[in-house]
Amino acid sequence: MTYWVYENWRAGAKKAKTHFAHCSYCNYGKGIKGGTRPDNGKWVGSFDTFEDAIAHARQTGFPNIEPCKVCNPS
Ligand SMILES: [Zn+2]
Repeated sequence: MTYWVYENWRAGAKKAKTHFAHCSYCNYGKGIKGGTRPDNGKWVGSFDTFEDAIAHARQTGFPNIEPCKVCNPS
């Protein structure tokens, strides 16, 4: 399995969300159709293990770290 982290830095919503690469929201780092606005955040990947993805999410320093509710990575 491959994992990605989405760093979302919009004001008031700073969070790092973990996804499986195949998640429709992640789409191997491309995001949903039409792409991700660069002012909203960025995809970081790809990580070989969930632990690596979480380690990256933690080092962002963002207050919220959560798994995607759609793909529910673990
Ligand atoms: Zn997901």
